[in-house]
Amino acid sequence: MRKQIAAANWKMNLTFQQGEKLLDDILEAGVKLEKHQFAIFAVPYPYLLMTRSEVEKEEGNYYVAAQNCYHKKAGAFTGEVSTEMLHSMNIKYCVIGHSERREYFAESNAMLAEKVNLCLESFITPIFCCGEPLEIREAGTQNDFVATQLRESLFHLPADKISTIVIAYEPIWAIGTGKTASTEQAQEIHKYLRSVLANQYGEAVANDIPILYGGSVKANNAKELFSCPDVDGGLVGGASLVAADFVEIIKALK
Ligand code: PEP
Repeated sequence: MRKQIAAANWKMNLTFQQGEKLLDDILEAGVKLEKHQFAIFAVPYPYLLMTRSEVEKEEGNYYVAAQNCYHKKAGAFTGEVSTEMLHSMNIKYCVIGHSERREYFAESNAMLAEKVNLCLESFITPIFCCGEPLEIREAGTQNDFVATQLRESLFHLPADKISTIVIAYEPIWAIGTGKTASTEQAQEIHKYLRSVLANQYGEAVANDIPILYGGSVKANNAKELFSCPDVDGGLVGGASLVAADFVEIIKALK
């Protein structure tokens, strides 16, 4: 079975102490993950080591992710964090191209391709985000929009590299808005994304790549969304900040 992933995106929320408490509460619930199931916490940079040492105490597939990295290897880039630094802290995942970074920090598809390359060079799995804004959805051109995002940031990769990454489809109109894509909308575009991957890399590679859904995933809709055949879990913002809710979301994994 393909990897199924519940990824928490804390964004710029929580003090260090609140973060520790949230993690404790989630981990204390003791959800046993099967071999193909993963829970990943994308936390602010200063909390990476604390989170890593908390999840390392757990049996099974609990991991930490950075929420971003810089698109250059090293040098005079004050305030930035490189993939080599993340690797030296034994961080295994990094969110790349979240729509908030694309929008507020002008991250382009080309820049994201550089970040993806640097992650892979540093043995870090990118969780690559794609997704369309409302006006594109209303115009009905979302498929072309997301296919371009994949093509311009990922399709330079050889098959043995792209098969190691994680994709998160996050329609921007559903992020933090309480408006969730319907299961039909989610399945339709996830299936389309998989077909785009299959055209480029073949069915076998496409069938192995986890595609997460993100956009107002909550404890009460996760099961239904994750039950779609091409939805392999979720990237979760708001609901990942409430222990009981994120525990339910982990439990909803296929
Ligand atoms: C996100 O942060 O990627 C996200 C999907 O947020 P929310 O779950 O709050 O919509």
